[in-house]
Amino acid sequence: MNAILTFLKNFADSDKKPIRSAKIARQKFIEKLPDVVPRATETYDGATIIPRPDHNVSRQQVGEHALKVLYRLRKEGFDAYLVGGCVRDLLLGREPKDFDVVTNAEPEQIADIFSNCRLIGKRFRLAHVIYGREFVEVATFRKAISDDKKDAPRITKEGRIVQDNIYGSINEDVWRRDFTINALYYNIRDFSIVDFVGGMDDHKAGLIRLIGDASERFREDPVRMLRAVRFAVKLAFKLHHDCEQAIPLNAHLLASIPAARLHDEIPKLFLSGYGVQTFEMLRQYGLFGMLFPAVEKSLSHEAAHFPKMMVINALKNADDRVAEGKTIQSYFLFAALLFEPMQQRADEKIKKGELESIAYYEAAGEVLTQQVRRLAIPRHFTLAIREVWSLQPKFSSRVGMKPYRLLTHPRFRAAYDFLMLRAQTGSASTELAEWWTAYQAASESEQRKMTQPQPVAAKPKKKRTYRKKAKPLVIYSES
Ligand code: ATP
Ligand code: MG
Repeated sequence: MNAILTFLKNFADSDKKPIRSAKIARQKFIEKLPDVVPRATETYDGATIIPRPDHNVSRQQVGEHALKVLYRLRKEGFDAYLVGGCVRDLLLGREPKDFDVVTNAEPEQIADIFSNCRLIGKRFRLAHVIYGREFVEVATFRKAISDDKKDAPRITKEGRIVQDNIYGSINEDVWRRDFTINALYYNIRDFSIVDFVGGMDDHKAGLIRLIGDASERFREDPVRMLRAVRFAVKLAFKLHHDCEQAIPLNAHLLASIPAARLHDEIPKLFLSGYGVQTFEMLRQYGLFGMLFPAVEKSLSHEAAHFPKMMVINALKNADDRVAEGKTIQSYFLFAALLFEPMQQRADEKIKKGELESIAYYEAAGEVLTQQVRRLAIPRHFTLAIREVWSLQPKFSSRVGMKPYRLLTHPRFRAAYDFLMLRAQTGSASTELAEWWTAYQAASESEQRKMTQPQPVAAKPKKKRTYRKKAKPLVIYSES
């Protein structure tokens, strides 16, 4: 009986404990060092080691799951480091988006260690160690490009790497990374940072510098140009002169990148809170047109800055939403970016005598098909874009049941947001947008009043005036 009472008491108290005990447990966990003798392989060719007291990356800032993975790998006798964006962001005192772990354990070995592991990827074979809805990405050190045909990665004739699952050591892995600031390794063994490429100096100087020859590295993987711009904007860093020079020369190479991979870059570029600046910089370096050719074309012959304002306002709204912690749907951004090219195309068709509804329908199809080829926008997105566009004319009907029907349409919210965006940029009337804002907020009876047909004011009867019949002009008279 006593045992049951004690159990019930503990159970009742249990919700008071967690926060403190979780903190203590984390602290203990962090302090607990795996008792593993460092492997003899852990040598660094020409790297600078920055010991813990000389940098500001603390384990307290590292995600719990990433720490678990690092410790476990160490415990199993492998080398384990944090690398890439997380080290770069922690050095800047920012919260990293994710924590990338790199190790000398091969994917299958990682899978043997972690029962909660899934192996993914063809181009790069990676391990995901899964914790509920989150995961920690664990990569194996990869080798630098070798001339040995047998184990060289597959490279296209333009120099692009299409597959490279050749494992190596940290001394080789570092040369595969893109920028010096992305190639700093945080060692879980002694909490030092290992710097092979002068990443710490570039970090302090705020420089985005490619490791190796800029043009060659862009040819290997043209997506690095997009990454260079993204990091420059996000971190408020400058592009190193070589990098800056090489981008316009190599921008055209983005055409060779599979559309699905480019599509993956879009949210990172435009929906991470720096969309406006990223857009401006991508245009400056000739990269934007490689992603959105039709938009670039319409921007280049813009009338009264209208299309640019539409794009900028859409991006600005997205940036504001990120700042407020809200989410953004990328199809909405696509709808805004492609609206003007679609309109232009529809106008051309109407001028040629096409029916308006058909012209819009066809124009939407053509613009989207072209864009899908470049960015592999999924079908459920293109359907949503079409819907947002096709609902726009319906906002003009403000009488009877039509407004209510539109209000209850599943895509109403996005269509209304789009109307607001158009009103901000002069492509729809502000009076109309305000009416719809008021209509949504109104009570049912007010809504009914708002949509009642306006009584047609009786026209004042026109006084009939009789004009005197003009006398026929006598040009000449026969006498
Ligand atoms: P983010 O904050 O966006 O996550 P990140 O630098 O961590 O930035 P990831 O895509 O997560 O970007 O890549 C992790 C690391 O892998 C990079 O820091 C870099 O070292 C390496 N890397 C990623 N993409 C490339 C690439 N295309 N070429 C060379 N190295 C790359
Ligand atoms: Mg990352």
